[in-house]
Amino acid sequence: MTKTEAHSYAAQMDAKDTLGVFRNRFHIPLHHGEPVAYFCGNSLGLVPRATADVVQDELEDWKNLGVEGHFHARKPWFSYHRLLTDSLARLTGAKPHEVVAMNSLTANLHLLMTSLYRPTADRYRIVIAGNEFPSDRYAVESQVRLHGHDPEQAMIEVAPDPGTYEISTQRLEEAIAQHGESVALVLISGVHFFTGQFFDIPAVVRAAKSVGAVIGVDLAHAIGNVELHLHDWDVDFAVWCSYKYLNSGPGGVGGAFVHERYAARPDLPRLAGWWGNEESTRFMLQHGFEPTYGADGWQLSNAPVLSMAAHRAALDIFDEAGMAAISVKRTALTGFLETLVNAAFAQYPIGACITPRDPAQRGAQLSLRFEHHGREVYEKLLQHGVIVDWRTPNVIRVAPAPLYVSFADVARFYDVFLTILSELP
Ligand SMILES: *Cc1c(COP(=O)(O)O)cnc(C)c1O
Repeated sequence: MTKTEAHSYAAQMDAKDTLGVFRNRFHIPLHHGEPVAYFCGNSLGLVPRATADVVQDELEDWKNLGVEGHFHARKPWFSYHRLLTDSLARLTGAKPHEVVAMNSLTANLHLLMTSLYRPTADRYRIVIAGNEFPSDRYAVESQVRLHGHDPEQAMIEVAPDPGTYEISTQRLEEAIAQHGESVALVLISGVHFFTGQFFDIPAVVRAAKSVGAVIGVDLAHAIGNVELHLHDWDVDFAVWCSYKYLNSGPGGVGGAFVHERYAARPDLPRLAGWWGNEESTRFMLQHGFEPTYGADGWQLSNAPVLSMAAHRAALDIFDEAGMAAISVKRTALTGFLETLVNAAFAQYPIGACITPRDPAQRGAQLSLRFEHHGREVYEKLLQHGVIVDWRTPNVIRVAPAPLYVSFADVARFYDVFLTILSELP
């Protein structure tokens, strides 16, 4: 495809894009006075224009009400987290009492592993995907040690299929079956951070349950990116952060899903805090923790309202746009990017896309692996106002988040990418 053809296709697609209007809801960073082409929404989503006002409202209430804001703010802080519940339930395919906005991703992973990774002498292994995000690996390793097991024995990392970067469902199933009843927990990403692979979560759930293991899912790269049905899929627990596809700000409040079968299980061990206690007795300063019903029972502390206000503003956009429409655009936009990347690599064979080709097995991210000159290509893209990210040793990740990336942005990526490749020594 020529650059001209790419631009004319992009113009047609943008003209009929029903989500195109949402681009204006965001601040797009500038590069030499012009908006960048932003492909890093998988790492840090852009700030919605509405966020400043929503956060400002809370600052105003704080200014005017002080401590009274807990109950008398326009949106009382005491129950602020509940304003996020319905939107999070829609995004994850959960019942409202199965989700809660709280803490950060890694903290939530620890909290839920504390309750649901209960190893014994015979059943203690944790199966995870290979090359997982460091925080997840550290969390798993430290939980294993906390229970007195040896990570060398207990952590089963499933490597990609030979000669590829994908970890097939079959490979995951085989690893789970092979370790059978010694598996206590299967922990997978919804979408793998490095390769962009969207796992077949229902199949992995079935495999985990068939050996009697608990199944947890890390949705860092999946929430707000792909459609999820955690309740129907029968996932036991899931955790996420809100600053990637959810556009809720750096270090923004995370979230968790706990299947309703654990909603009323005061017997489950947990690391408790006052905000997880039953509301009616929370302030009575009595002894004995009484967990509140559902995912709320895992909360530790009172809600970080400023961060939650930014989250609220960002979730409004998802409620309005809907994941179904986002998914349709994501498929078209990512497919267009893939066509262009393949055309560029056909002309300059120094790399390849390692993300699955099947649109059902990926979200909005393509990972490009370079034989050489990868870092240089990455730096030059940035110099041209095309924002992507670099993962050592040799991968550029390009994520066209559908809410604010246009088809024209993708055509612009192609222009710059082709020029850079043509100028390499
Ligand atoms: C982004 C990401 C994290 C980040 O964890 P925080 O606790 O939010 O810092 C963890 N795991 C995965 C897979 C991620 O992609």
